[in-house]
Amino acid sequence: MTATTPDVVLIGAGIMSATLGVLLKELEPSLEITMFETLEDCALESSQAWNNAGTGHAANCELNYTPEWPDGSIDISRALEVNVEFDVSRQLWSYLVTKGAIADPRSFVNPVPHMSFVRGADNVAFLKKRFKAMSAHHCYHGMEYSDNWVQIANWAPLLMEGRTNEELVAATRIVTGTDVDYGALTHHLVRHLTSQPGFSVHYRHRVGDIRREPDGRWTVKAQDTGSGEVQEVKAKFVFIGAGGGALPLLQKADIPQAHGYGGFPVSGLWLRCDDPKVAERHHAKVYGKAATGSPPMSVPHLDARVIGGKRSVLFGPYAGFSSKFLKHGSLLDLFESVRPANVGPMLSVARDNFDLTEYLIGQVLQSESHRLAALDEYYPNAKAEDWRLQVAGQRVQIIKPDTRRGGMLEFGTELVAAEDRSLVALLGASPGASTAAHIAVSVLQKCFPEELATNAWLSKLREIIPSYGVSLIEDAAFTKRVRADTAKALEIENV
Ligand SMILES: Cc1cc2nc3c(=O)[nH]c(=O)nc-3n(C[C@H](O)[C@H](O)[C@H](O)COP(=O)(O)OP(=O)(O)OC[C@H]3O[C@@H](n4cnc5c(N)ncnc54)[C@H](O)[C@@H]3O)c2cc1C
Repeated sequence: MTATTPDVVLIGAGIMSATLGVLLKELEPSLEITMFETLEDCALESSQAWNNAGTGHAANCELNYTPEWPDGSIDISRALEVNVEFDVSRQLWSYLVTKGAIADPRSFVNPVPHMSFVRGADNVAFLKKRFKAMSAHHCYHGMEYSDNWVQIANWAPLLMEGRTNEELVAATRIVTGTDVDYGALTHHLVRHLTSQPGFSVHYRHRVGDIRREPDGRWTVKAQDTGSGEVQEVKAKFVFIGAGGGALPLLQKADIPQAHGYGGFPVSGLWLRCDDPKVAERHHAKVYGKAATGSPPMSVPHLDARVIGGKRSVLFGPYAGFSSKFLKHGSLLDLFESVRPANVGPMLSVARDNFDLTEYLIGQVLQSESHRLAALDEYYPNAKAEDWRLQVAGQRVQIIKPDTRRGGMLEFGTELVAAEDRSLVALLGASPGASTAAHIAVSVLQKCFPEELATNAWLSKLREIIPSYGVSLIEDAAFTKRVRADTAKALEIENV
């Protein structure tokens, strides 16, 4: 049964809405929650396994999180933040596995070492310094470094076989890395929600309007994509977890806090290889260095994937441009999102990001041979016939007003909330699904501060996420304990 006046409406059935729904129901089982989803099932957009790379982003291997400053020092502060955000997800998933809500952790998370791999003297020097800075911190305990061809080939044979020249190479590896099937995980979470009273999910229902009522509630109208019938509910709290569809919905809600925001869609392609002879010989996620001018999420990587129990290898992403905000969206999405308030910021971003425009044009014009040449840099013996193209999900990067430059392009995520915190939207895409639990906790802190201050919510939240309120960046002993516990529950490596 759908409540016509639910406490909470979740828009979108991806990893973000599902994670927030699960946390809310654990904290307050009596909540009435209604979820609307345009498509016929959950996790069919960015959260679907092949629409993302499935990296459990803990900033182990992604070089863009550790910039080098002009004085030659390496800044690991952003990497540490992302690293411990992943611990929040690990704790929530462990809690759900331990309580039996998810039967088998291997159905969505698998141990896959995370590696960074670079070539050339400058990059090798950078990686060595980065390793020194990171491995000195307890969060990166167990990280290994090598510039020895034999050792690197031992970690990832495909990377080194067929490499003929004598160039300098180096790699770091951390065996506690993971590959996550966020699609399978979303299914587990939505299944867990639907097993509880007070929760209903409506597939094939597109939310077309969100309006504020004089009593403070939000009227959410969702149209049945088959029959055209419109369902209307009045909610106390709305979470717009609609992925690329969040910006248009936020614009419909018409809150002043969202004025001036725009979106810049980036599409993506992978090369995918399902041949067991290849997949069984690659057991790592190997991240390289991004090309000059490319957006941070375009770092090439050669990834072991485990989806539905089968091993594959993925390489990419090759970025592209499509005006759609969702893979199943409309080519008009970008144009329909233009408002008088965001024209200025959007034009400023176009003016200030010429490198990015150039990079995207280059990517769009890439032929198959260009794509294989890029793969060759990571897997010199790759055979074209083993690989096929796989279309990835859409990402909508945030464009926001900026007093100095007019507009800014952001590659992270941002929660944009109404002043009274009764509605919040999640914009942006990175680090992404890995930090869904951290994002859900941020929603609780932003929108439910009074409830979170009660003993009942606080003690339950600490049962689910034992590190809540503790800085894992500061507390080495706590980190060690939490990682050992979650590694055991999730059947992943611990060092
Ligand atoms: C190429 C690529 C690689 C990535 N790699 C990684 C990675 O390695 N690791 C990682 O952690 N993250 C990664 N991400 C990011 C990650 O996939 C996303 O952050 C995450 O899946 C977003 O989840 P979501 O629930 O917000 O959105 P989605 O999964 O897109 O779900 C949103 C849902 O809302 C629905 N919806 C939209 N509009 C409406 C409406 N009006 N009414 C009803 N329903 C609506 C959509 O149909 C969709 O099902 C990657 C993303 C991409 C595109």
